[in-house]
Amino acid sequence: MPTQPKPSGTLKAVRGTRDLLPPETALWNRVESTARSVFARYGFGEIRTPIFEDTSLFARGVGEETDIVSKEMYTWDDRDRFDERRLRVRWLEMYTRDEYIGSRSNVKAGSAEIDLVAERRGVVEGQEVLITELVEFKPEVRQFDVDRLTSAVNHFKETSGKEHVLGKLVVPEKRNTASSVKELQHGIFIEQLTGEFFLQSQRITLRPENTAGVVRAYIEHNLGDTGQLQKLFYIGPQFRRERPQRGRYRQFWQIGVEVLGPVSSGSESPLRDAEVLEMLATLLDELGIQGWKLELNSVGSAEDRKRYVEVLRQALAPIKHQFCLDNQRRAQTNPLRVLDSKDPDDQALIDGLPKIADYLDESSRNHFAQVCAALDASGVVYTINPRLVRGLDYYTRTTFEFTVPSSGDPASGLGTQNALLGGGRYDGLSEMLGGPRAPGIGFAIGEDRLILTLQAQFNAVSAKYVSYLMHAYIAPIGAHNNAAALALARELRNGANGLRVEVGDGSFRLKKSFEMASKIASNIVIVGDDELSSNNFTVKTFLTGNQTKIDKSELAAFILSQSSVPNDPEWAQDFFKSDREST
Ligand code: AMP
Repeated sequence: MPTQPKPSGTLKAVRGTRDLLPPETALWNRVESTARSVFARYGFGEIRTPIFEDTSLFARGVGEETDIVSKEMYTWDDRDRFDERRLRVRWLEMYTRDEYIGSRSNVKAGSAEIDLVAERRGVVEGQEVLITELVEFKPEVRQFDVDRLTSAVNHFKETSGKEHVLGKLVVPEKRNTASSVKELQHGIFIEQLTGEFFLQSQRITLRPENTAGVVRAYIEHNLGDTGQLQKLFYIGPQFRRERPQRGRYRQFWQIGVEVLGPVSSGSESPLRDAEVLEMLATLLDELGIQGWKLELNSVGSAEDRKRYVEVLRQALAPIKHQFCLDNQRRAQTNPLRVLDSKDPDDQALIDGLPKIADYLDESSRNHFAQVCAALDASGVVYTINPRLVRGLDYYTRTTFEFTVPSSGDPASGLGTQNALLGGGRYDGLSEMLGGPRAPGIGFAIGEDRLILTLQAQFNAVSAKYVSYLMHAYIAPIGAHNNAAALALARELRNGANGLRVEVGDGSFRLKKSFEMASKIASNIVIVGDDELSSNNFTVKTFLTGNQTKIDKSELAAFILSQSSVPNDPEWAQDFFKSDREST
């Protein structure tokens, strides 16, 4: 038997992936609940699409030539799938002969359920008899199935009183030579049928982004038939095989939004673009992100884009060799991507290239002007960045990015990854995926980067923000008081005040209980024999150093009044805001 290589060393999370642990996860939850509450105010509903999809969705939707599709996707071939139904139908076709009298599907025989029980006439030792066949349809012969069938046959014989019972394992003939039947052991036959009984394997990809999946779902569920504008949001992990660094992971989270629908629902209106951008400004402000900047551009309609790409190709041709190798390749495969390049040596060359704004037709120019006017009216500040074309093929018209103070600035927490989020309009995507016309606009926030930014901008605050104290630590004195301690904790946790309570262990020495309590809670409550008999509990408050005895009926209210944690579920936000204003 081949030996399995032994794993060496301890197992770790795969490169580019990481565990999110408390207390940091409290910050993640806070970000997500703020996003959910802002999205609700703007009329968005949540969509959850599968984490893996058919590979062709991304090839067609995102574009074969993009970095994401050409080199960053996690893709595999799912195994060929055995199609039991086809094998069963084929067997029944072959055996609908005179000698077969009838059959029943899915028959219980002891603990097994048998796919088919068929009866036929046959001859045994010169006598015409009734033969019962227990038939199973399987992808291959496995000992486990043979054993199961054998015991089903025995059980069936005993319980039915029938004399001539045999088992048949029907499997595909792999080499497609000829169908055959052979007896494997007494009363158990293997029957091989020729034909195609496997469904072809599917190529599957872990989603590298969520827009394509949302549009696929829009098409699959005919959401356009409602005639309504679909306003959808998602929160979930995405996967790209990029080189990991701070702010760039192979599994990362996105919070995204898509607004799409038939043209009659107003999905093409520049007001939709402006509303989405204004909502983002609101969200970033509510989260407390400081110094964000909105950069905006229009890449025009699909035709404008085509025209511009041609102009760009021609402008690049004579100077291509002066660019870095990556950009030389992009100049060939996807010239728009040259504009996205962050390579410092290429910046002056890129600035000299033709600008897409000069190649927009009138309707695209008008659309963009209206987006800008609506943003101006609602007071959202932006700058126009003519180089902002974004990497994905599906973008049309408005494209945008929100950044935080840049690269070298440690306040962003992002290193060189200063784009917090990006998005744009994708008027032709639904048609690219074989759906009806459904213009739309959306964005995806990099949640990991959002968290890094929050942590860097409010380091001191966010530490407090995420690691809030328990109201009380219950310390039983002696293991015999453990049960009473748990009962008291239950009352405090589930009572009207809903306190946050930790319970120690009666075998701890009092000194140890005090040490543990002082790290995680505002108060320690001693549960000793005296306390339990008098219903009068010793409470020490760490902040003041005061120690007093409190009657059980007043315990919860007292603990609450002596806690540095406000008992308001929204406390963290208030805490956060007041600190932010003072910075
Ligand atoms: P994209 O889907 O490429 O437009 O990315 C949208 C946002 O997702 C970016 O602005 C980033 O904040 C975030 N993002 C993209 N790739 C990664 C990654 N590998 N790791 C972390 N965040 C990412």
